[in-house]
Amino acid sequence: MHLPASTGRARRAILLGLTLAAGCGAPDLGREFTLHGVRIRVDTDAPFAQREEFPARVEDVIAISLAYWGGAWDDLRGRELTFSTGPYVACAGAARASGCFDGAIRVATWDPGVGTVDCVEQTVLVHEIGHAILGDATHRDARWMELEPVADALAGRVGFGPDGVTSCTVHVALWRHPLDEP
Ligand SMILES: [Zn+2]
Repeated sequence: MHLPASTGRARRAILLGLTLAAGCGAPDLGREFTLHGVRIRVDTDAPFAQREEFPARVEDVIAISLAYWGGAWDDLRGRELTFSTGPYVACAGAARASGCFDGAIRVATWDPGVGTVDCVEQTVLVHEIGHAILGDATHRDARWMELEPVADALAGRVGFGPDGVTSCTVHVALWRHPLDEP
């Protein structure tokens, strides 16, 4: 669903008001934090992204991805990473992208197969870090197809769905070449 910017701002203001009134509970859309010079923007109400440990989980997934793709935090310094509600993110040339790298990284917290995902490991963040390090928009590098070690490193973690704690199921195929994504 597309909302005009003014409606989005109004909704955010209402959510902020609710947060202030209730003290807690309402998702804090647009919240930001920084990891090693990377600005992380949380523009999603997915339950896992509201957790206190979310920044640490994001940091860990990025660190494991960087090690796999042969990059370092310095290669990402000054970039912006946005987690969005989805289902899709804006991406030039792709109508239905789950993720995008065009200088900034955007990943949806939604997947066509499962709906809203339950953990950061389930997003296409691993894939987009690959683009941030390699470029390789046409996925020629053999490593796009050899992601099992990353899946193993991220396996067995806890997820957070609408009903609370659940499992975090990683689908390595999602990281290979998300549908319709450059
Ligand atoms: Zn790609």
